[in-house]
Amino acid sequence: QNVLVCCGTGCRANGSLLVLEALQKAARKHKSDIEVSPLIKSTGCNGFCENGPIVKIEPADISYYKVKPEDADSIIKDTVLGGKIIEKLLYKGNDGKRVRSQHENPFYAPQKKWVLHNIGEIDPTNIDDYIARGGYSALKKALSMDADRIIGKVEDSGIRGRGGAGFPTGTKWRQALKYESDVKYVACNGDEGDPGAFMDRSILEGDPHSVIEGMIICACAIDAQEGYMYIRDEYGLAVENCKIALQQAREKGFLGDSVMGTGKAFDIQIVRGGGAFVCGESTALMASVEGRVGEPRAKYIRSVQRGLWNRPTVLNNVETLANIPRIIQDSGAKFKELGTEKSSGTKVFALVGKVKRTGLVEIPMGSTLRHLIYDIGGGIPGDRPFKAVQTGGPSGGCIPAELLDLPMDFDTLTSYGAMMGSGGVIVMDDRSCMVEVARYYIEFLCDESCGKCTPCREGLRHLLTILTDICEGRGQEGDIELMEKICHTMQDASLCSLGKSAANPVLTTIKYFRNEYEAHIKEKR
Ligand code: SF4
Repeated sequence: QNVLVCCGTGCRANGSLLVLEALQKAARKHKSDIEVSPLIKSTGCNGFCENGPIVKIEPADISYYKVKPEDADSIIKDTVLGGKIIEKLLYKGNDGKRVRSQHENPFYAPQKKWVLHNIGEIDPTNIDDYIARGGYSALKKALSMDADRIIGKVEDSGIRGRGGAGFPTGTKWRQALKYESDVKYVACNGDEGDPGAFMDRSILEGDPHSVIEGMIICACAIDAQEGYMYIRDEYGLAVENCKIALQQAREKGFLGDSVMGTGKAFDIQIVRGGGAFVCGESTALMASVEGRVGEPRAKYIRSVQRGLWNRPTVLNNVETLANIPRIIQDSGAKFKELGTEKSSGTKVFALVGKVKRTGLVEIPMGSTLRHLIYDIGGGIPGDRPFKAVQTGGPSGGCIPAELLDLPMDFDTLTSYGAMMGSGGVIVMDDRSCMVEVARYYIEFLCDESCGKCTPCREGLRHLLTILTDICEGRGQEGDIELMEKICHTMQDASLCSLGKSAANPVLTTIKYFRNEYEAHIKEKR
């Protein structure tokens, strides 16, 4: 039997390292009595962090939640060696029934694990675990194909960038291929800064080789020699696990002067982000990698032509790259079967806020918000009324109850003034004041704007002043119209996507909750 202990950041915060130690101790103790030795290993995030530490026993398919070190002895003796189930450690569903397997758990059952299929199953610090589940076989396959065929497979899959913009990944790779250069680069954007989002962190922590393999395949396709993983500085465990993974990949010959003996040189370095939200923007990220101030530049020349050090560069987000090995190995067509015609595959969402079950969720693109919030999230605590959901981080928008049946894909949410973004989903109930919500996001963006261009720098400052006045009873007749004007100027004239999309929380809350703004302003009179 294998005993898998979730040691992602969430479970570690709940004490999973102590549980791991206690299980190892218990296994040593019982091994002397019984001739069976369980294999105990730590894994990445299982996604249901609020119920951690999570311990899975396989192949018996038993999952235990909120495990404490004092449960370790009984888990080894009774369950692993004795085959008995410890009822109190099973997950209790809404109907009060305890469920033994993750497949019966209402949080996991409706999910479709595609890009997360290894996380929670492998030890991210052991490359052999990854290889045992088919890891690096997609690279072997890619090395037998020419650039055109590799890119063709990515194009056939229809995958679009998971970082938020939704640009077709295959098109980006093909553009980078066509530019001649002495050096080309592949960069991975792991600067996940949206409040409430932790999709990329979980992938980097729990399955770093999938991202590395995706980067090497991209390097083969566009003929790049150097790679950079730009990882948010706060993600200490992700940086640690990626460092170990890179070293192991070098030792196995997947990286270095001759990738798998082909003579093709490619290696990857880690760059730690400096803590600025704007460094998630592509040109700011590249400036930061080069050691310059992380400020965006105008995109009159695209980075596929002149990116890092003015050389052709493919920059993809963590989740996008982690999808690549399966697309090459299984088939782009299989990926396309999931999701919608224009947004294929699955998407990982970080479901947080006023919802009964929070965590990391992977579902096919085009699933509705209702499915995510009610079927997987279990609805609103205390069965209070749902009010709104913020999608796409601080630059996303607030979506009201009447749009709960909207499919979540790149284009639908944008057409309603919100955006899917990188996958952060914050649920609000009837007690949330939507003007306060808009103020919170504008304050965040005001802090994070780099200040390089006037519409964003001054626009955010003015919006924050007006929103604060409205919230604190100093709102004026005409404030709503003035904010709309500022928002449209920011959308039209800001230099980068941060400023262009910063108006979304204000515009969507005005559009769907105008009555709350009017009530605040009226209250004052
Ligand atoms: Fe900086 Fe904002 Fe201008 Fe972007 S839009 S360059 S974040 S000031």
